[in-house]
Amino acid sequence: MEDPVVLSAEHLHKSFGEGDVLCGVSMQVRKGELVSIIGPSGCGKSTFLRCLNFLEIPDSGKITAMGVTIERKDAVWRRADEHMAHRLRTHVGMVFQSFNLFPHLTVLDNVLLAPRVVKGEGGEVERAEAMALLEKVGLARVAQRYPVSLSGGQQQRAAIARALAMRPEIMLYDEPTSALDPIVAEEVLGVMRTLDDEGMTQIIVTHDMRFAQVASDTIVYMDGGHIVESGPPEVLCVNPAHEQTRRFLRTLL
Ligand code: ADP
Ligand code: MG
Repeated sequence: MEDPVVLSAEHLHKSFGEGDVLCGVSMQVRKGELVSIIGPSGCGKSTFLRCLNFLEIPDSGKITAMGVTIERKDAVWRRADEHMAHRLRTHVGMVFQSFNLFPHLTVLDNVLLAPRVVKGEGGEVERAEAMALLEKVGLARVAQRYPVSLSGGQQQRAAIARALAMRPEIMLYDEPTSALDPIVAEEVLGVMRTLDDEGMTQIIVTHDMRFAQVASDTIVYMDGGHIVESGPPEVLCVNPAHEQTRRFLRTLL
């Protein structure tokens, strides 16, 4: 039996004034799936990812994550919508290219902050859980250090641990390794593979075609605010249906 759909986006539109950045993007992701989104710079990948957890509010369309549905029918963003978006975000963790750790907090306190603020947790149990997460990403040893003293790869792994502290069922990553050299990037991608083995649902925007090919269940090719095509790596990379996809893949060689 196929795994259940845990995240779906239907007909998402988004513009920032002139021209549409997302022109009706739809996607379904199943539990435990690892999806890589690729495409040329400026084609709307980040905007799409940010819309999935309402960091960016789509102009129209519908998103369902872990049973929480938000549908935009008109231009008004209501309190009730913000409430639902808040609920949805507790299921969907996000990691950025630039890590975005709090510089004035230790690694451990970075991981503890979100559960404390959002869920009102902060006791010994949470501390132990946060340490377990740091152990998982290989950072238990540096838990008491500040972000500035860590390598880029360590900072990104700390950012992943921080997102995981909210116990999301779905993780989004926007070019998590683009600021890292290849060897350090490998440590970050290793964490994602571990999470994949544990059944985490993950969507990654990436330029790393090697990782996308080896680790993804599905690769999505975006261009000009559309999903041009998607499929398993062995189909999309070897025998894409569209000339546009073929041309983009050639630019990466
Ligand atoms: P990608 O991640 O694929 O490089 P983005 O989603 O970041 O693409 O951007 C798509 C387009 O939307 C670009 O033309 C970008 O300039 C524009 N854009 C993104 N965010 C904003 C914003 N907050 N305000 C105005 N334009 C934006
Ligand atoms: Mg981007």
